[in-house]
Amino acid sequence: MSSLSPVKHVVIAGGGTAGWMACAAIAKLVGKQVKVTLIESDDIGTVGVGEATIPPIRTFHKLLGINEQSFMRRTSATFKLGIQFKHWGQTDSDYIHSFGATGRECWAGEFHHFWMQGLQQGIEGDFGSYCYELQAAKAGKFGFSKQNPINYAYHLDATRYAMFLREFATELGAKRQEGKIVAVNKRTNDGYIESITLANGNIIIADFFIDCTGFSGLLIEKALHTGYDDWSHMLPCDSAVAMQTEATDHTVLPYTIATAHDSGWQWRIPLQHRVGNGLVYCSQYQADQQAIDTLTGSVAGTAINEPRVIKFKTGRRRKGWNKNCLALGLASGFVEPLESTSIHLIMSGIVRFLRLFPFQGITHQAIDEYNKQLQSEIENIRDFIVLHYKVTQRQDSAFWRHCSAMEVPESLQHKIDLFKETGRVFLDDGDIFRVDSWTQVMLGQGLMPKQHHLIADMLSEQELEKLLNGIKRQIQQRLETLPAHHQFIEQYCAS
Ligand code: FAD
Repeated sequence: MSSLSPVKHVVIAGGGTAGWMACAAIAKLVGKQVKVTLIESDDIGTVGVGEATIPPIRTFHKLLGINEQSFMRRTSATFKLGIQFKHWGQTDSDYIHSFGATGRECWAGEFHHFWMQGLQQGIEGDFGSYCYELQAAKAGKFGFSKQNPINYAYHLDATRYAMFLREFATELGAKRQEGKIVAVNKRTNDGYIESITLANGNIIIADFFIDCTGFSGLLIEKALHTGYDDWSHMLPCDSAVAMQTEATDHTVLPYTIATAHDSGWQWRIPLQHRVGNGLVYCSQYQADQQAIDTLTGSVAGTAINEPRVIKFKTGRRRKGWNKNCLALGLASGFVEPLESTSIHLIMSGIVRFLRLFPFQGITHQAIDEYNKQLQSEIENIRDFIVLHYKVTQRQDSAFWRHCSAMEVPESLQHKIDLFKETGRVFLDDGDIFRVDSWTQVMLGQGLMPKQHHLIADMLSEQELEKLLNGIKRQIQQRLETLPAHHQFIEQYCAS
């Protein structure tokens, strides 16, 4: 259903990462045309996790005109070049999924065809040795210049990030209202949200509402009953325990670590001032206390806080935009944090919404377009994350036996089968992960294709050897110019 009254006032419910990212973007990009108010409750607080990102966050910051050095200083951020996956393919295997491209591309296909041809000819070389970002991560180095570009994201302190964006948005004129939402009031004729009532009795009226209330989904679900697609049959982890430890120079690595356990996996996210640690697990196979013991028993360094258990249901809200309500962040669903995609989904949701912004009224065409694009984006992300669980040779616990045997979406099964049989990867509409990412993960998990594209055969043995060794040599030369990651940050954030 459409509502053709112009949208002049947007209310954002919730002041976590989602709420303040949305508020900052609206204030900056359409703040002259639209008034924005954010309601948050100090009593309820935020989820307090969500500290690893992927490279498009840099585009978001550029769009908002955020200065990188000041952002990094304020949020105690470090650079992130990828994720090291330990023990995923097998109990003793490990690989890095980096943000870099591997080798060089040619018209017929990707670099791994040349690499596979090289293997057949006895040219040694780990697949990762042809990727600059991956090698920089391994060496614990970081740096950038026009001549030596590098693809990266950040690890950031979520609480400080929300504070940073809050200051940014309020300086641009966004209004902040502290208070607990106790009721969401709907119009009787069309079920659109009319206002929000706070515990102190204040009623806040707006034309449009953005639900950033976290898992509770106060507007999108409790008021509008939008519905939820539950994905736990293919992403069975439903719990996490998180704790922080102190940082040292040695802990400031330029990558996240995701270590697989018997019934889930453990994250390690290095910030400048501390390390974020957590265990994501499936409660069917592991009790909360067992998970707490596993986490506390395996983290290095002095603990800063007590371990905290968080429960979640993996899946997505059936509509990200319903009537005059948009859901962002955890209110819109949650695909577990393995590839750090939640903050990305917040960002892409905001940008998509601003491109379709209902200045002259809400149309069902805009709503449908938003929901269609969101669906394909989130389903592609889901497939990529399920891939890590499905493509494993681990059979050492009930959890991994379940994961390797489970049915996966047809879209993912097709990608796995195509790669297995032909070595090819083709992206779908809305795929945010590139062919490089799919290949690094599939090969990293031990899925070796039966064939490769014979374009690689066009080169003689000597030519192929020259190509492969040349790429490795160039990467090594580029690496020599880089400082240690922690030294680079110290200098960069000081200036
Ligand atoms: P929250 O942080 O929960 O904020 C909700 C807000 O709503 C708060 O301000 C709260 O006060 C307010 N609120 C709620 N109810 C009311 C009420 N009645 N009245 C007033 N205000 C109210 N994402 C990544 O991109 N990378 C990661 O590495 C990552 N790791 C994660 C690990 C775990 C274990 C989990 C669970 C999530 C992770 N995420 C990650 C997701 C990420 O944490 C969230 O996407 C992000 O923090 C956004 O949260 P949010 O703002 O939607 O919700």
